[in-house]
Amino acid sequence: MPSKYLIIGSGFSGAVLAHELVKNSDCHIDIWEERDHIAGNCHTSRDDETGIMVHRYGPHIFNTHKKEIWDYVNSFSEFRPYLHRVKAMSNGEVYSLPVNLSTLNQFFKKNFTPKTAKEFLDSLSDKTIKEPKNFQEQALSFIGEKLYHAFFEGYTKKQWGCEPSLLPASVLKRIPVRLNYDDNYHNSIFTGIPIYGYTDVIERLLEHPNIHVFLNKKFFPSEEAIEGYDHVFYTGPLDAYFKYEYGKLGYRTVTFESSVYNGDYQGIAQMNFCDENIPYTRITEHKHFMPWENHEKTIVFREFSKETEANDIPYYPKRLQEDKILLKKYRQKAEKLSHISFLGRLATYRYMDMDDVIAEALDYSKTFLTAITANKHLPVFPNKEN
Ligand code: UDP
Repeated sequence: MPSKYLIIGSGFSGAVLAHELVKNSDCHIDIWEERDHIAGNCHTSRDDETGIMVHRYGPHIFNTHKKEIWDYVNSFSEFRPYLHRVKAMSNGEVYSLPVNLSTLNQFFKKNFTPKTAKEFLDSLSDKTIKEPKNFQEQALSFIGEKLYHAFFEGYTKKQWGCEPSLLPASVLKRIPVRLNYDDNYHNSIFTGIPIYGYTDVIERLLEHPNIHVFLNKKFFPSEEAIEGYDHVFYTGPLDAYFKYEYGKLGYRTVTFESSVYNGDYQGIAQMNFCDENIPYTRITEHKHFMPWENHEKTIVFREFSKETEANDIPYYPKRLQEDKILLKKYRQKAEKLSHISFLGRLATYRYMDMDDVIAEALDYSKTFLTAITANKHLPVFPNKEN
């Protein structure tokens, strides 16, 4: 008899898992999605007024070092080459971000070469910090006070709503510093945008007669809800699964103010606003994600960050000290359960990029199928606690 699985959530985690399970085993899958659309925060759809493909939950640029993941997503839809270039407004001037030679020359009014820029950056870095323990220390030991203040301090306070010294150093490590004129925002080898949007990619992953998606269907964990299913894969927030029994894990959420203009508004897909007195963090102009399309009008999103309250969509796990203590408790509780797995950004409470989410779901589907066929122990989480 075919197995019956329930997947909670239709983002990349849930969709990849569903795809792999029906492809590699005899099963039927129900996916419950609480929103009125699939694809989670990657959801894209065309704007009625302008015809532009809009990243409804903020900019998503597919980028990865992993060839197998690049090939995997490209097998579902065509991805066009797209290089993400970001500009940053600081104290009334527009700079290239990540910090590169152009940024350094403009900021310090110099004509550095890669060699002299390196010497100069070395002279700026705070040598008293031997092992950076947080975002602020990482920045000060790497680029020094002036650049930290101009590009990172204000933006980070707005984005995370706390002192940068409370955030993990790993958040800053997402952004490189370059001693050349390369202004690609990401370091990844493969980068692109799906020509029909991300929702289309997820749709194709889910295209199978044995996969049934139920929209507007919220999951309330209980014995009755999961009755009849051989296994449940939960990709929602970990704390919500346990009804916030130990308290809430910290998340930032973002909101968008949408405006339509004629022509080209800012000449680039993303402009960051690094000064603390400007209330938004960035402006995204969606038409620039698809430079191969032509649109007379343009739609832009001003992005604001705030603490997540009831009914807000959680975006960024804060992972402060107190969150990590809670995370440990929730994980211990989850690990005692059987016939359920927790995976993805929300259920593992990690700041993950799309390629890592996909890689982990692919790996976990293999682990799962091996475990059930060989009657072996199945880990409840795809990752070790960190
Ligand atoms: N950041 C910053 N200034 C910027 C851009 C980023 O201080 O102009 C910091 C900020 O703390 C942010 C982190 O670097 O949360 C990671 O940036 P990234 O662009 O990767 O964030 P995402 O696109 O995931 O929101």
